[in-house]
Amino acid sequence: MRDPLPSASTLNDLLPEAQRHGYAVPAFSARYLACVRPLVEAALERRAPFILEISQRELGWFDLTPEAFRDEVGRVVSDLEVDLPFALHLDHTFAEPLVVEAMDAGFTSVMIDASAEPFDVNVARTRALVEEAHGRGVSVEAELGRLTTTDRMEAEGGAAAYTDPEEARQFVDGSGCDALAVSVGTAHGVYPPAGPTIDFARLTAIRRAVGSTPIVLHGGSGLPADLVARAVRLPGGGISKMNIATDFEQALLGAMDHGERMTSAALDAVDPDVRARGLAAVRTVAVNKIELLLAAGRA
Ligand SMILES: [Zn+2]
Repeated sequence: MRDPLPSASTLNDLLPEAQRHGYAVPAFSARYLACVRPLVEAALERRAPFILEISQRELGWFDLTPEAFRDEVGRVVSDLEVDLPFALHLDHTFAEPLVVEAMDAGFTSVMIDASAEPFDVNVARTRALVEEAHGRGVSVEAELGRLTTTDRMEAEGGAAAYTDPEEARQFVDGSGCDALAVSVGTAHGVYPPAGPTIDFARLTAIRRAVGSTPIVLHGGSGLPADLVARAVRLPGGGISKMNIATDFEQALLGAMDHGERMTSAALDAVDPDVRARGLAAVRTVAVNKIELLLAAGRA
């Protein structure tokens, strides 16, 4: 078992603070190990607290392990002498053994996504994981309601299962989770031309229902600035963590003129000048996201 990264925080150190002060912490899905460095550089440049994360599916797509991701984050944080609050978070994970593997590897925060299960099962699985994680000083994000993908949104006309505010209250009370990912209109992937909408009445009702529990918005790529600002500044405390993945990968591959997703190792083998172009684009996008979330200068 690895010790947590020396200076790494949990969601409990980052999100209540953000909620109180009207900003959201950017949660960067690096996807490729090489992208960790430009993302951290962007946070340093803008003095923003940040979260680096990777999901179960991404570990598969990019051929990575929690240990490899943790080691790269540790290397970059040490090289750049990072003095900002940050968390190392396991994003959407459906299997408990992988969550335990990540905690063993030194992740300071994890997400268990049992949102496809019936309500009671989702509560019970989350509750069990919260007990294990809190015993190790690790924070837990959970999800209620089904976040869809933008592809499915287009095919099904946005038929995602939105989070019910009353269920959210029962879920937070029953599971003890530290942060709640909600489904209020956003989705994973690239939005169709009509773009995303956010059901603000629902988000406001969820905020009232869950008390001070931080709310997480997924599907932050391609979200228009006005929607983000409104979600962050919701009366009574808006969203305090926003996940961003697709925008970074699109910027990376676009700047390298490379159409296809590749493994993390394949990116390392790309011509260094070409790769540098891609990584510079990732950094630029990250700076923009930090500004969008009003997180600049908060660390
Ligand atoms: Zn997500």
